[in-house]
Amino acid sequence: MIKMIYADNAATTQLDLDAFEAMKPFLLEKYGNPSQPYSFSQFGKNALKDARKTIAKCINAEPEEILFTSGGTESDNWAIKCFGSNRDIKHIVTSNIEHHAVLNACKLVNASIDYLKVDNQGVVNSEDLESILLQAKERVATFETTLVSVMMANNEIGTIQPIKELARIAHEHGAIFHTDAVQAVGHIQIDVKELNVDMLSASAHKFNGPKGIGFLYVKKGTPLYQLNSGGNQEFGLRAGTENVAAIVGMAKALENNVHELERNQLKLRMMEMAFFNEMDSYGIDYKRNGFSEHLPGLINISIKGKNGETILHRLDLMGCCISTGSACDSVNNQVSHVIKAINVPDEYAEGTIRISFGKYNELTDPLDIALMIRKVVSQY
Ligand code: PLP
Repeated sequence: MIKMIYADNAATTQLDLDAFEAMKPFLLEKYGNPSQPYSFSQFGKNALKDARKTIAKCINAEPEEILFTSGGTESDNWAIKCFGSNRDIKHIVTSNIEHHAVLNACKLVNASIDYLKVDNQGVVNSEDLESILLQAKERVATFETTLVSVMMANNEIGTIQPIKELARIAHEHGAIFHTDAVQAVGHIQIDVKELNVDMLSASAHKFNGPKGIGFLYVKKGTPLYQLNSGGNQEFGLRAGTENVAAIVGMAKALENNVHELERNQLKLRMMEMAFFNEMDSYGIDYKRNGFSEHLPGLINISIKGKNGETILHRLDLMGCCISTGSACDSVNNQVSHVIKAINVPDEYAEGTIRISFGKYNELTDPLDIALMIRKVVSQY
């Protein structure tokens, strides 16, 4: 059997073992519905309380500012579609490299949308936000609110945005600031008080937690409309019986990742370096995308005259999982909106692949993958 190398951690991650162990009792023994009043259900109720506290501590929030969701997509949709107690958003500013969870949610709000452009590294310019907000002042009535939503780190190229500065500008102009931090939480240090964001989306399966669970941070006092009506769960804002085991697993995974942050970052930076040294030694003609300030272990390259889908499938045959990025259309081989936005030259753009290492990768994986790429690109 060939050894599998998993290098698509930006798509999803392996569950942290401690998280798995922490979840088990809530699936098998302590399975009571946390909303019931008898003592058997107290285990679940207390576990939810502890998980909320743990998660809040990891991002320097207050426990009651953490709302559990089913993942990143739900958190983004909730923040964008349900902001304002009477849904009074008439203007949204977002970037042209957001995940489709944000881009498509914005289109469903009855609001005008301005898109911030990015430079060739995939970074937005905060002065552009300032001028859009200044211009908007003339169009948008004072009782209407502008929502600014800019992702913390991009899922295809890994670039990290100047969130603190963007949030400051948004607030200066009376706007509310949301950030999709799905790729960032558990991988870079996050302090919501320091960043001063109003809402922040996260998803557990991106930080070694289980799938189908996430959270939305909502700063105290930020008006957010309820997502589901029904029971009184999540402070009456999201009805439905809580997935206690998944929530417990998410909290443990995040706690572990935050605890190991520096060690993991160092390992991942070393792996990046090893990969690029190896690629350069083979003389492959490629461009590196989004390499300014970026997520540790996330590598995006475009190989001249090649096709990303072909490389992906050939590496798959060799037992290696990588990606072309998220939005590449495998039928039409279209270049993703992110690769287009950073102006990768045509002769390189189609040959784009994303390799994303995680804490469970071995130090030799980058060398093995570079060798596989060399084999593949020399074959066609
Ligand atoms: N936002 C970003 C930046 C992502 O990378 C993803 C997933 O790839 C999502 C949102 C959606 O998260 P989920 O898969 O938890 O719905």
